[in-house]
Amino acid sequence: MPNKTPSEPLCQSCAYPLATTEKGSEADGSVSEDYCGDCYHDGEFTEELTLKEMIEKNIPTTVENLNLTIDEARSYLVSLMPTLKRWQSA
Ligand SMILES: [Zn+2]
Repeated sequence: MPNKTPSEPLCQSCAYPLATTEKGSEADGSVSEDYCGDCYHDGEFTEELTLKEMIEKNIPTTVENLNLTIDEARSYLVSLMPTLKRWQSA
């Protein structure tokens, strides 16, 4: 586990820090406090992904952002992603 676990709010779908990205929007046009604009638009997820697909999709970004190897990034995401709201019921 890297010790760089971000403490700021994360997108509850892709784990991207919400402070550094555009937030998603709810069906009524209000700003989502839970999801980023890449994942969530007008109250719906922009992509239908499984948790596993989301993890694979996020590995390259995590490698870059946290300066990890691919294996480290995968195990980091495997432990982090299931704690996010979108994947709680999956
Ligand atoms: Zn997201």
